[in-house]
Amino acid sequence: MDFSLDRETEALRERVRAFLEEAVIPREAEAARHLDRLEAITQELQAEAKRRGLFLPHMPKELGGLGLSWTALAVVLEEAGRSLLGPRALNAAAPDEGNMHLLHKVANEAQKRKYLLPLAAGEVRSGFAMTEPMGAGADPNLLKTTAERKGRGFVLRGRKWFTTGAEGAAFFIVLARTEEGPTLFLVDRETPGLRLVRTIPTMDHWSVGGHGELVLECEVGEEAVLGEVGKGFLYAELRLDPARLTHCMRWLGVGVRATELAQAYALKRESFGKRLAEHQGVQFMIADSHMELHAARLMVWHAAWKLDRGERIRHEASMAKIFVSEAVNRAVDRAVQITGALGISEDIPLSIFYREVRPFRIYDGPSEVHRASVGKRALFKGLRP
Ligand SMILES: Cc1cc2nc3c(=O)[nH]c(=O)nc-3n(C[C@H](O)[C@H](O)[C@H](O)COP(=O)(O)OP(=O)(O)OC[C@H]3O[C@@H](n4cnc5c(N)ncnc54)[C@H](O)[C@@H]3O)c2cc1C
Repeated sequence: MDFSLDRETEALRERVRAFLEEAVIPREAEAARHLDRLEAITQELQAEAKRRGLFLPHMPKELGGLGLSWTALAVVLEEAGRSLLGPRALNAAAPDEGNMHLLHKVANEAQKRKYLLPLAAGEVRSGFAMTEPMGAGADPNLLKTTAERKGRGFVLRGRKWFTTGAEGAAFFIVLARTEEGPTLFLVDRETPGLRLVRTIPTMDHWSVGGHGELVLECEVGEEAVLGEVGKGFLYAELRLDPARLTHCMRWLGVGVRATELAQAYALKRESFGKRLAEHQGVQFMIADSHMELHAARLMVWHAAWKLDRGERIRHEASMAKIFVSEAVNRAVDRAVQITGALGISEDIPLSIFYREVRPFRIYDGPSEVHRASVGKRALFKGLRP
């Protein structure tokens, strides 16, 4: 077993860290004060990331990306994840990052030209519309949106919600039910009959384009089908397995930064005659965060290593998704506790992290659903622990 990073990855990590410290983190306070400028700020940061040769780490070189392995990507996205602005600054934030992987794997040449190239260049944004109010959610089989054949195309009818990035997106990847089964469609934002009815008010505020609710009563041509008709669930899983892992990579960075902030405060602040860092109760909290983040990182690296070997990671991605989302939530919670009232303020980003990371235990499969899948696989496939 070799956990050392090669020199190239180590150097890249240093460059991403420098980018965060010099360009990204200094913009956080401004972004927090003017959330309406989030998109503009991240666009400026993208230009800087391009200048520094850090843009698009997850895509192959022929698309302008860095052509990294999954393991190297784990290192880069954790570093970028230390700021909520970091991943988008590299054009490697959800949902675009997962959508790019899916388009790269499944789209035909014409679709790649029309959708993938501008997305990879950071010229447009996209949305992934699967979840529905009282329809597809934790259980995707409840999918209600339909796609009925009409001539050579389809009529889409349904309502989607929590489509991240919907406001300002150029297109959506929409899951709908055809006679042959669930199917993915590429739907342009300008398609008549596609309406963004609202941006849902939520506890988190830092996703560019918010979380939208869409109504679809629209016609699309057969060229809108992504991949093959009837294979929508298969492709959604193809997107979600690595997408769950990249979420873990990014959020791990938040857990690390939160713990760094808590440590810095504990070393400075005094209470009852000594520094907080000298109180065992505080040491225990820091120790728990270190242990859990370390275990989380090892789970992510292991799953990434399997992906690099061309292996499926369904089981590992589920385990990582549960563990990392819960560990990072706990680490952020402890950091808020250690920093007291300052942690509740927005003078440091901990209270923002606290709000932003909570949904991670719900999206891309709630913890309970992943736990049930892990348990079922373990029991009925006779997996060794
Ligand atoms: C911030 C955010 C961003 C999102 N972005 C997107 C997006 O871009 N595109 C998209 O399509 N969707 C998106 N979603 C939706 C997300 O994927 C769903 O919220 C998730 O799949 C759960 O579905 P639901 O909310 O309908 O929960 P429900 O299906 O109503 O489930 C509610 C709760 O019930 C429990 N539960 C459900 N099933 C089980 C079970 N089998 N065993 C035990 N407990 C269970 C869980 O605790 C679960 O949290 C986003 C959600 C959030 C919060």
